[in-house]
This record gives sequence, structure tokens and C-alpha cells, in this order.
Amino acid sequence: MNQNKPTVLLEYHLKQLKLPSMLREYASLAAVCSKERADYPTYLLRLGERERLDRERRAAERRIKAAKFPVLKTLDSFDFTAQPSVNESLIRELSNGEYIDRRENVLLAGNSGTGKTHLATALGFTACAQGRRVRFFTVTGLVTCLLEAREDRQLQRILEQLGRHQLLILDELGYVPFSKAGAELLFEVISQAYEQTSLIVTTNLPFENWTEVLGSERLTGALLDRLSHRIHILEANGQSYRLKESRQRLKSAKPSKPIPDQRRTNDQTNDKTENGK
Ligand code: ADP
Ligand code: MG
Repeated sequence: MNQNKPTVLLEYHLKQLKLPSMLREYASLAAVCSKERADYPTYLLRLGERERLDRERRAAERRIKAAKFPVLKTLDSFDFTAQPSVNESLIRELSNGEYIDRRENVLLAGNSGTGKTHLATALGFTACAQGRRVRFFTVTGLVTCLLEAREDRQLQRILEQLGRHQLLILDELGYVPFSKAGAELLFEVISQAYEQTSLIVTTNLPFENWTEVLGSERLTGALLDRLSHRIHILEANGQSYRLKESRQRLKSAKPSKPIPDQRRTNDQTNDKTENGK
């Protein structure tokens, strides 16, 4: 009974100190270390390491959840040979996250299905793993959220919340034109982010067409001025990966009916024209 007292107390202290990995592993690691005749500091070092690694992993998981990625995509699953127009070395360089420390922006431009959302999510994912606070939005989703917040007199609070992130991903600029108020709110976010928060923007529109979705030439000019001050531009101009996959599936399966593209509803414009080829 008496012999158990130190471990009971130890477990109590570890619990109070919120060191769950040390609590879980101290006994088994003690057995390993005594077998290896490792000294006390080595034992403590290994135990501390486990706690730290687990803590970092849990924090990264929390950040990934908070980022609200629509689907989790990583760079490992991106096939660069399938999309040779994408500058792979720039993507690899960006994945070290230093552009976020320098408050630089990234623009991913290209037609539908070329992996823009995949790459933006993958960069966001690595940023989360590196300990950065990230939030993913579709541009229309963000604008809707801002318009609603303004109605409820919560706009300032939402803008402050956005400002606490180190990286904001704004996906799919250009699919839906904005109202005047919507465009102004998007401008507000981009101005606030200027030199404070990095932005990754994905778009199917060349710069000269941005006025069409934002409405005003003056506002578009001011927005581009801020966004492009420090920007890395990546172009994905190949064939749609979705379309290519469907074609390959069609070829190997030879079904009687064409395979519908599951995500067509999200990306309306370009797939249609590509499909017509
Ligand atoms: P976009 O945002 O440019 O319209 P997505 O990133 O949504 O395109 O890509 C469409 C689908 O194809 C996604 O499931 C994505 O993971 C996949 N995809 C696109 N390009 C590649 C690629 N080069 N390697 C692997 N998967 C890809
Ligand atoms: Mg997309």
C-alpha cells in the first residue's frame, strides 16, 4: 500500500499540471529506460519530449478544425506532373510559411478544376501545422457572413476576429458578382489585412475582369493595389483535373452514360465550356 503512495501522488500532480502524455507514459518509459540503463535526465528528457510533441499535435489539430477547410488536402496528394503550368518550386518554397511572417499574399489564378482550391487548402494546412492561425472562406461565403454581421451590428466584432488570423484563404473570387455593399465589405477585409494578415486568393478571372465582379473600377483599383503590393502569383492553366479523371474513368469503365461531375454545382462556369469541347 505504502509503496503505491508516490505513484498515486505523482499521478495526481501530473493531472493537476495537465501533463496527460507524461501521465500515460511515465511508467512504461521508466521500464524502458531502466532496461537501457539510461540516466534520470535522459528519462525526463524523453518524457518531456512526448508531452511536447503530443501538445503540438493537439494544437495543430485544433487549428485545422478552426480553419474550416471544406476538404482536407495536402501537398503530398497534389500531382504536379498532371498540372505542369503550376510553379512547383514556388509552392514548395511557400510551404515553409515564411511568406506569412512577411505578410505577403498569394494569388492562385486559373480555370476551374486545375487544383487552385487544393493548393490553397494544402498551404493553409501546412500553415496550421506550423502553428499559424488560418481561416478558409469562399469569397461569397465571407461576403454573405459580413453582410449579415453588418445587419446585426456585429461587423466590427467579425472584422476583429478575422484580424486575429495570420492567414486568410479567400477561395473562388469571380464566380459570383457582388452587390455594391458586398464589394465594399470585401474591400474592407482586404484593406484590414494589408501588411497585417496574409491572404491566399483563388480566382478564375484575369485582373482586367475583376471590375466585372466588384462593380466599381475605383474600388477594384484600390483593392488590387493592396492585394498585389507583395504578392506571389501562381497560374494553373492546364486542363481540368476533374474532367481528366472523369474521362479516364469513362475510358476504363466504358459506361453507357457519361459520369457526371459531382462538384459541378460549386464550380459552374468553366467546366461547362470544357465539357462542350
Ligand atoms: P479548382 O479550385 O481549381 O477548381 P480543385 O482544387 O477544386 O480545382 O480541384 C478539383 C479536384 O481535383 C479536387 O478534388 C482536387 O483535389 C483534384 N486535383 C486537381 N488538380 C490536382 C492535381 N494536380 N493532383 C491531384 N489532385 C488534383
Ligand atoms: Mg476551387
